[in-house]
Amino acid sequence: MQNSINIGDEVIMKKSHACGTNKWVITRVGVDIKLKCVNCGHEIMMDRLEFNKKMKKKVSETDAEEKK
Ligand SMILES: [Zn+2]
Repeated sequence: MQNSINIGDEVIMKKSHACGTNKWVITRVGVDIKLKCVNCGHEIMMDRLEFNKKMKKKVSETDAEEKK
């Protein structure tokens, strides 16, 4: 389900950001995906292919159980 990315979704990336978190929120979805670091607010952009490779999993607010 890695292709169903929406604005506001939280995702865990494989590599953590320089500030130490690996949790990001989606702020733009298009040809490129824009991500904002939830910890420091830093924003990055990458294309979908790269995003799909670097994303570890999606975090949904109502998702209490781990889905793998
Ligand atoms: Zn950060």
